[in-house]
Amino acid sequence: MPELPEVEVTRRSFADRITGATVVSARLGKPLRWPLGVDPQHVAGRRVTGVGRRGKYLLLHLDEGLLLMHLGMSGSLRFAHDPGSAGRHDHFDLVTTAGVLRLHDPRRFGAVVWAPHELDERVVRLLGGLGAEPLEDGFDAGRFHAALRERRAPIKQVLLAGDVVVGVGNIYASEALFHAGIRPTVRAARLSRPRADRLHAAIREVLQRAVEQGGSTLRDFANAMGDAGHFQLQAAVYGRAGQPCPVCGTPVRQIRQGQRSTFYCPNCQRG
Ligand SMILES: [Zn+2]
Repeated sequence: MPELPEVEVTRRSFADRITGATVVSARLGKPLRWPLGVDPQHVAGRRVTGVGRRGKYLLLHLDEGLLLMHLGMSGSLRFAHDPGSAGRHDHFDLVTTAGVLRLHDPRRFGAVVWAPHELDERVVRLLGGLGAEPLEDGFDAGRFHAALRERRAPIKQVLLAGDVVVGVGNIYASEALFHAGIRPTVRAARLSRPRADRLHAAIREVLQRAVEQGGSTLRDFANAMGDAGHFQLQAAVYGRAGQPCPVCGTPVRQIRQGQRSTFYCPNCQRG
C-alpha cells in the first residue's frame, strides 16, 4: 500500500511539470472508490496552479476547484507526454497541455474526487479528521506529547490511527518505535515527555529518510515519472522476525496488534 513517503515522492515527481498546464480533457475508466462528483468536461480549460499533499491525499489545485487524488491500496500515478492508450487498470487520465497524468489502480481502492474549493464538505469529510503533518513545522513535540497523554490505547495503535499524526503507517510505526526505544504495546498516555520527544524525532527521521530514498514499500512502486521503485526501506525490525536486532543482536519479535503485524526488539524496546 502506498504510504506517505510514496505519495510525497509521487507529488514531487510531477508537481513542477504539471503546474501552469491547462487541462485539455479528463477520462474516467472503471469506477474507483468514490465518484468524481462532477462531469469530467467541467475541468477542461482549467489551469493547474499547484500540487499539494495532505496525509496520503494529493491535492491538484486548479484555477477553479481542485481534484483530490488517493492511491488506495495499489494505485500509482504517472505523468508522461505520451503514455499511450489506457490499459485495463488505467482508470483516470487528466490530459493537460504539459502531459497526461494517469492513475493506474488494479484494485480500484484509489479515488479522484473533484471539489469546488477546500472548504467544500467533500474535502472536509476526507481531510478534516487528519492529524499533524509529520514533515512540516506544525508537527510540534510538545503538542504531540499532549495529544498522546489523552490516549489510553497502545502507542502503535495511536500512531496508526492518524488523528494525532498522519502518515505513520504500519512499517514506519514499527521502525520509529524501534529507533525511539519504545515498546509498541505501551499505552500512549504513559509516555514521558523525553520519550515522546524521542518518538517525535524518530517519526520525522524515518519518514524523511524514506522520502529521500524514493520511498517505496511496494516492490512494483513506480513514481509518476515512471521510474522503477528502486528502494526497499532499509528496515531495522519490520519484516525481520527472528533475525538479529541490528543494535544488540537479540532476535526480533513479531506480534499482532489490531490485525496488523508489529515487529520490535524485546531488549532495545523494554518499556
Ligand atoms: Zn535490540
